[in-house]
Amino acid sequence: GLGISEAGCAFCGQCITHCPTGALSARDDTDRVFDAIEDSETVTVMQIAPAVRSAWADALGCADELATEKRMVAAAKALGIDYVFDTNFAADLTIMEEASELIKRITKGNAPTPMFTSCCPGWVRYMRLSYPELACNLSSAKSPQQMFGAVAKTYFAEKMGIDPKKICSISVMPCSSKKYECDVPELNSTDKDVDVVLTTREFSRMLKANHVNAEALSETEFDSPLGTGSGAGVIFGATGGVMEAALRTAHYLITGKNADADAFKTVRRADDYGIREAEVTINGKTLRAAVVSGLANTKALLDNIKSGRASYDFVEVMACPGGCAGGGGQPITDGVELSLCRGEKLYALDSKNALRFSHENPDVKALYTEFLEAPLSHKAHELLHTTYVKRSIN
Ligand code: SF4
Repeated sequence: GLGISEAGCAFCGQCITHCPTGALSARDDTDRVFDAIEDSETVTVMQIAPAVRSAWADALGCADELATEKRMVAAAKALGIDYVFDTNFAADLTIMEEASELIKRITKGNAPTPMFTSCCPGWVRYMRLSYPELACNLSSAKSPQQMFGAVAKTYFAEKMGIDPKKICSISVMPCSSKKYECDVPELNSTDKDVDVVLTTREFSRMLKANHVNAEALSETEFDSPLGTGSGAGVIFGATGGVMEAALRTAHYLITGKNADADAFKTVRRADDYGIREAEVTINGKTLRAAVVSGLANTKALLDNIKSGRASYDFVEVMACPGGCAGGGGQPITDGVELSLCRGEKLYALDSKNALRFSHENPDVKALYTEFLEAPLSHKAHELLHTTYVKRSIN
């Protein structure tokens, strides 16, 4: 029979979170992380994705108001992780690269439009399997997970004087498809940008196994220098968030000025997760944008584009309905769909963050000054971008 890899599965994990009989589960990688923590020669570097903070303590019996980002950091430290960083940092970096790429595509016409976001491996895999002719429309920017891993094993390792071979790069993701993404050869710029991917569920299981009492933890800051994330980074975890974050920075890159941080709210989620369209005018140029989540909705959108019924400049796609907040690696709450309220938690974190723009993230700025030079530079291409080659991707 066919293995799941050969069956055209996107690995989004929605079947796991929505299985009425609880019969499905994802591969468990917790042992690999426990082993890395135990090994005194290994330096464990963990990144935690934006959407994880909306659900990390759900299964731990922790009161909602105590389940803060900073207690999530303390929880990872309580497991024995050496460095705990924020994937929001890499989301901001993705925006710098992706917004620059979008402007180049539109002004220079050097690559086809619409440009599609490429941070969701469920979507990228679905497209490569079902619509391979559109692969050149994918942004060449790697996902925040893979960018983070590449930066951790180069810039961070160099800065701290750590041999990159000793680093175990671990990510905590709301996603089962990220376990697949970290093994895709063309998405790795170092030997292995990310060594192990844990879902939010596995992270909770590890905390339970170690008897970590989430409510009793003291609030702890993310480590530096890859620990600062803007509000634009945190909304990556909700449908429409990548688009909104990219528009905030594209506006700055085009005009030299910030728009109001809420100026592009029109691209935020539709309650029914259908296709959301918006026209945005920057400097007299109108940009046609579309946001979609859920692969059935995505299929309808792609068919509209292919038949000429719809035409856009920039399209955000997330495989899971509601985006990563409702991801296939999030805690399972039988019979209730929590992606909307989890997404709202992320928008609330954005609105109270003093930093609302990716291009203002001081750690991202330092990374460019000290190491990468500029968005789309030669070095940025080497570490942060890919080329989607036509090949069998099972
Ligand atoms: Fe993973 Fe998010 Fe894509 Fe779902 S929407 S497959 S959680 S990246």
